[in-house]
Amino acid sequence: MPLFRLCHRFTLCCTSLYFVFNTTALYADLPKQSLRPGGIAVIPLQDNIHQVSYHNQPILITQHQQQRYAIFGIPLSASLGRLPLQTNQKPIEINIQSYPYAQQRLTVKNQAYVNPNPEQLERYAIEAKAQNDIYTSFSPRTWTEFPNFIRPTAGKFSNSFGRKRFFNGEERAPHSGLDIPAPVGQRVVAPASGVVVGVGDYFFNGKTVLIDHGQGLISMFCHLSAIKVDQGQPIQQGEVLGLVGKTGRVTGPHLHWSMSLNNARVDPQLFLSNP
Ligand SMILES: [Zn+2]
Repeated sequence: MPLFRLCHRFTLCCTSLYFVFNTTALYADLPKQSLRPGGIAVIPLQDNIHQVSYHNQPILITQHQQQRYAIFGIPLSASLGRLPLQTNQKPIEINIQSYPYAQQRLTVKNQAYVNPNPEQLERYAIEAKAQNDIYTSFSPRTWTEFPNFIRPTAGKFSNSFGRKRFFNGEERAPHSGLDIPAPVGQRVVAPASGVVVGVGDYFFNGKTVLIDHGQGLISMFCHLSAIKVDQGQPIQQGEVLGLVGKTGRVTGPHLHWSMSLNNARVDPQLFLSNP
């Protein structure tokens, strides 16, 4: 049995390498379904459904092994229970279940990161709008298969997505990404191909890169020490986008990796076939 496990792992490694060179491979997986706030619904579509939306936000549709699917990002703020999605036919309902997200209490020495002053709040509002414009965008990209995703940087991580956060005892928004602790200067690569749609140095997020993978699927990488890409450039899976750092609101060097679908931040681990 251990021999089988070894072989199985080896096969997975080879498969990952293969994807770097051939993005139309037959082995790409859909994201894992997890019907919780911050999760993903993977919905097989009947032939007569061409369009799915939620609150007027179009939802990604992909082909996978002769079947079309809607891939819906469930907002962290979604209520539990039934959630209807609009289509060009009858609405589709999904059922959101609760999930035991942990709590995290952080001490931040720089008080401005807990209670920003009016000038900093104004800066943050402009940055938040720029990010929101990217998250609500919908570029018309179609695939023969859903894009395969790889880890953007190496490092052991715990399940930090969705944690309720208290900064110096004050409750703030839940954690909308996955933190991967890593040394300053370690390479960060694009987990899938796309176009660089955002490059900036933000108040909370520090040096940041955003990649549009198509149809409202956006990835974001924060707290970088250096950015190696330019706004508007195409980027391939595995290509270096920047280096790990500790810029913005951090307690130590790490990569903050967010994934957004239809303007909902979802758990990045759901995109990894071997998290
Ligand atoms: Zn983070």
